Amino acid sequence: MKVAVRMDFVTEELKRLKDEGLYTYIRTIESPQGPWVVIEGRKVLNLCSNNYLGLCNEERLKDKAKKYIDQYGVGPGAVRTIAGTMSVHIELEKKLAAFKGTEAAMLVQSGFCANLSAIPALVGKGDLIFSDELNHASIIDGCRLSRAEIVRYKHNDPDDLERALKEKEGTNCRKLVVTDGVFSMDGDIAPLPELVEVAEKYGAMIMVDDAHGEGVLGRRGRGIVDHFDLHGRVDVEVGTLSKAFGVMGGFVAGKSELIEYLRQKARPNLFSSALTVPDVAANIAAVEILQESGELVEKLWDNAFYFRARMGELGFDTGHTQTPITPVMVGEATLAKELSMKLFERNVFAQAIAFPTVPKGKARIRVMVSASHTRDDLDYAVSAFAEAGKELGIIG
Ligand SMILES: *Cc1c(COP(=O)(O)O)cnc(C)c1O
Repeated sequence: MKVAVRMDFVTEELKRLKDEGLYTYIRTIESPQGPWVVIEGRKVLNLCSNNYLGLCNEERLKDKAKKYIDQYGVGPGAVRTIAGTMSVHIELEKKLAAFKGTEAAMLVQSGFCANLSAIPALVGKGDLIFSDELNHASIIDGCRLSRAEIVRYKHNDPDDLERALKEKEGTNCRKLVVTDGVFSMDGDIAPLPELVEVAEKYGAMIMVDDAHGEGVLGRRGRGIVDHFDLHGRVDVEVGTLSKAFGVMGGFVAGKSELIEYLRQKARPNLFSSALTVPDVAANIAAVEILQESGELVEKLWDNAFYFRARMGELGFDTGHTQTPITPVMVGEATLAKELSMKLFERNVFAQAIAFPTVPKGKARIRVMVSASHTRDDLDYAVSAFAEAGKELGIIG
């Protein structure tokens, strides 16, 4: 009897998710990533990928990966600290540090892993973390894993951070302030200069997760620290290679000594194998492309401004984004899903995002335009939104 019931909760939870419209139906892409992709045998306009610059299927990245596979093989064979550090990893780490304008960088398997690497290595039991209430799940998990006490401050509110730090003034422990650089669901930018000032004033370390800033903000996409010209004042920068860079992987960047410390302490570096050769190779090509020209970054912003303006004219609420991330606010999860379905009928692929990724009642379609969309593509998307939005009564 006991054996028969012990996993009933799985069935029940799946049913609940479906009943409440919170179940995610996962689409399979049958073509390379790009502005148009093939799903269920149909060519559809892709509006929900993090492939900001269109690098996922770029020739230079593919060529570099092929070349390095021939030269170095595929797998690293071990964790970095035992026998998995290859010259290709060092090459990419140097390039990333140069790109970010930091002394050094440490590669890890993903952006998610970068947060799990950095946070528990910097703070532990008895320490304090000050975390923006809307921080990404991987920051939250990194914080929890550290066993430090987590104090949440109001979203993008340096005054509330100051209040929280003041409350704990005199507590003799390590303090870490951590924030997303660009908030992935709303597209707003953290007020980093003010957060840095408050952190400095109260003797706290400051860390920013620049996953949606790299390849987007700053000169030639160098990220949020460059955007605000805060070089040298942000202690820990976390990055991902799976968004604008178009590949996979993550990293932590900062002072040489910090990176040396993390190489010894970060558990994903000690206990999970290194990135594969083709991933590293393709990332090297991606950084080179960004170093050489700002063209893709400019195109991305042009496209984003154009799309947002057209959607605004139609009466859609695109929230308060400051970046190419364009939330189309809908409200109820079920309505957002219906809109997504109606768009898909019109060959537009734009997934609905609902709780727990965003708060309840704030479901939306998050549109991600990329540098590889043409004006025609964007016009196509706008007319599909217009038709579907009217049918569902979201716009007049
Ligand atoms: C996407 C994202 C991550 C995870 O990056 P991966 O490389 O996909 O693991 C981490 N932090 C933030 C803020 C993100 O948006």
